[in-house]
Amino acid sequence: MNKMETTWITGATGLLGRAILEDFSTAYKGRFVGTGFSRASGKVEKLNLLDKAGVEAFFERNQPKFVIHSAAERKPDVSEKDPSATWALNVDVTEHLAKLCHKNGSWLLYISTDYVFNGTAPPYQPGDDTNPLNYYGKSKLAGEEVIQKVFDNFAILRVPILYGEIQHLAESAVTSVVLDLKGSLPSRQDNWAIRYPTHVGDVALICRQMVEQRSADEGFRGIFHWSGNEPYTKYQMACVMAPIMGINCEDITATPEPEKGTPRPQDCCLESTLLESLAFGRQRSFPDAIEDILKRTNSKNQSS
Ligand code: NAP
Repeated sequence: MNKMETTWITGATGLLGRAILEDFSTAYKGRFVGTGFSRASGKVEKLNLLDKAGVEAFFERNQPKFVIHSAAERKPDVSEKDPSATWALNVDVTEHLAKLCHKNGSWLLYISTDYVFNGTAPPYQPGDDTNPLNYYGKSKLAGEEVIQKVFDNFAILRVPILYGEIQHLAESAVTSVVLDLKGSLPSRQDNWAIRYPTHVGDVALICRQMVEQRSADEGFRGIFHWSGNEPYTKYQMACVMAPIMGINCEDITATPEPEKGTPRPQDCCLESTLLESLAFGRQRSFPDAIEDILKRTNSKNQSS
């Protein structure tokens, strides 16, 4: 790793971006810089990615050799309600970053999602046919496609539902379930869709390893998958989390049909074998990791 090489992390105030920053702070040998928007403070610079001139000036100042593009509108319900804002952030901004990377000889690592698949034929390899069911998935796939039209010096990393250190329970689709349980009981939870909860610290490690690999090997590019390896429905996640929150599992009802509203795929199991074959990554156990997170969240709430 060349110590002079700079990595730029977008979305560094988000659930995943914070974990990437933390991982880079402890283990990355090069220089790195994180940007966020409404929550930017301290070492994370405020940069509105929709402001093209501002982004170009930032690029000029920092000359990143690698860009990890984590910022996005990632909530399917919000995307459905506000498609044009979602497109502007998930597609137009991605195209702009790809063009800047192309012009400057920089490598782009784009964080994408398992929702590019329709969930009917798991497990999915990176080269499998895509067919997103909702607007969020369509916009993230369009982001992948614009990059591939601009240049080939990129990697796309698709990941599934993420969890990790949260600022509030609604921040992750996993801990949102707890919020639901803390509302009125009995609670009904989806027992139809299968998810693979993936810790952001594990994804952050993969992102760093990918940057390090690209630094050593110019040819390291393409589409990759990374996923936790334990399948859970939201009902099953609820049953793991309920006792930690002092909630009785018997107050939770499993619903055997898909949730109403924004369509979601049933099972988008991502094959991580390509990265595993490079001895990349680690997959921590969901019950252990979520227990730690919820206990820390509880004690923070009690002391505040
Ligand atoms: P997140 O917590 O919602 O964070 C989104 C980030 O985007 C924040 O840092 C936010 O900054 C930034 N952002 C939003 N609008 C911006 C703007 N106009 N200019 C600059 N930055 C802006 O998202 P996440 O969960 O970390 O997701 C990270 C990536 O993983 C995304 O690409 C997402 O599609 C993908 N992904 C996420 C999940 C999941 O379960 N979370 C699953 C699969 C894939 P501020 O908050 O400071 O405004």
